[in-house]
Amino acid sequence: MSAQPERAPAGAKVVPNRIGVEHVAEGEASLRVDDPATDETVAWVPYHGAAEAREAVDAAAAALPGWRARPPGERAYLLRRFAAAMLQQQRQLAVELTREQGKPLAEAMGEIAYAASFIDWSAEEGRRLAGEYQQQAGSDKRMIVMRQALGVVAAITPWNFPAAMITRKLGPALAVGCTAVVKPAEQAPLTALALAELALAVGIPPGVINVVTGDADAIGRAWLDDARVRRLSFTGSTEVGRLLVARAATHLTRLSLELGGLAPLLVFDDADLDAAVRGTIVSKFRNAGQTCICPNRIYVHAAVHDAYVAKLQAAMASLRMGHGLDEGVHIGPLIDDDAVHKVETHVTDARDHGGALVTGGHIVQPRAKLARRFCEPTLITGLTPAMAIAREETFGPVVAVQAFDDEAEALALANDTPYGLAAYAYTRDLARALRVAEGLECGIVGLNDAAVSNAQAPFGGAKASGWGREGGKWGVEEYVDVKYVSIG
Ligand code: NAP
Repeated sequence: MSAQPERAPAGAKVVPNRIGVEHVAEGEASLRVDDPATDETVAWVPYHGAAEAREAVDAAAAALPGWRARPPGERAYLLRRFAAAMLQQQRQLAVELTREQGKPLAEAMGEIAYAASFIDWSAEEGRRLAGEYQQQAGSDKRMIVMRQALGVVAAITPWNFPAAMITRKLGPALAVGCTAVVKPAEQAPLTALALAELALAVGIPPGVINVVTGDADAIGRAWLDDARVRRLSFTGSTEVGRLLVARAATHLTRLSLELGGLAPLLVFDDADLDAAVRGTIVSKFRNAGQTCICPNRIYVHAAVHDAYVAKLQAAMASLRMGHGLDEGVHIGPLIDDDAVHKVETHVTDARDHGGALVTGGHIVQPRAKLARRFCEPTLITGLTPAMAIAREETFGPVVAVQAFDDEAEALALANDTPYGLAAYAYTRDLARALRVAEGLECGIVGLNDAAVSNAQAPFGGAKASGWGREGGKWGVEEYVDVKYVSIG
């Protein structure tokens, strides 16, 4: 979806961009940020383009020598302060996140803590960034291998995790001495702007983090046309990822690509069905199903199919829709009307292909003053590979279930997709668990586990789900250059 710039009404709150020491808000055009649950305007942000994108790189390049030269312990200290400040302001940040993005407040609180954990973890990884020194084989020469900060890096992020998708990149980048330019998604840019101000407040110097909102295409082009930008880390759709790959050819800019998924969840006949159902609820319905690693396709052994479906239906009955700031809400709105259209299309397509609607299936307005943008928790049986749900992300609280007869069939179904981000399997048989984990073509496997992401682990995809990893020591590697020095 491309941003629609408008003129902000007189007196409207326009949250400025952060470029170096400047708060930049001038310009005719702005982007409106709406609460997706109510359509009320939360704030406005500037609609900037190539010129401001270049200014942001100027600011990041100016800040680079000073930031890179700081002792790693000092950078780590500032990053730990940044993480601590996020936790101190967790509720305030979470409320703002819920307003712009829609997820329930408890989930937004969780996201802020999760986002802070990447900054905190990376701070320590940065302190331990080390090179090597050794004698070269077959000679008296020595060699040093240095690992140095890449320089200025860019981040382009999606709306579904407005805090964490940014800190997963900023944490490791800043920890090793890079400076950054960031473009958050048009639907949820306020959290990014708030984080940039918080970083400044704890002492991270101006120019180390710069945030530009506006014309995604122009900003992305400006950064890939600028040889000073050494890596662009993108989280978003595979479609935009492909575009960036082509554009990165100009300067051979390195890319990290965290793209779309189409996760399968396998339930074998020896599985703990209650655990499988709990896992399905956690992984599928958080963020109203708008998560890159949430399962879209559930494959269940025929012997336990009916029991699993009955238990899942019962568990889904307790999920409550509503405004994310209302008490006791599990499912917020879909992000926008395009998302509603996609979910409706997938449900209709599944029924047209013979799927049976067990529960849900409608877009509703849960109470007065809310938008008609809430999707009922939906369960469909009779999934087939021909259905849209089996071929592309639904990005809504919709599960579709297909029965399988044996392990080989389950693996073949799971791997029958160009995507390969996450997959889940429930079984009590250790040998099968390991065979299945080895056989799944993806970057992340949850074995009897549906909450697979944390700051310590390598998060990323295989196949069309992307390149590179975020988290742990792997995330740090994306932001360093390896230099070999041969000593005669
Ligand atoms: P998107 O449409 O690809 O947008 C992502 C970001 O790219 C936004 O900031 C967007 O800006 C920007 N963008 C759009 N067109 C661009 C262009 N021509 N050049 C440069 N940047 C451009 O994706 P989304 O709808 O926000 O996010 C949902 C997708 O992200 C899903 O596919 C989901 O699976 C994926 N995702 C993946 C991961 C992962 O870790 N693998 C994590 C979260 C989400 P505007 O908003 O201004 O258009």
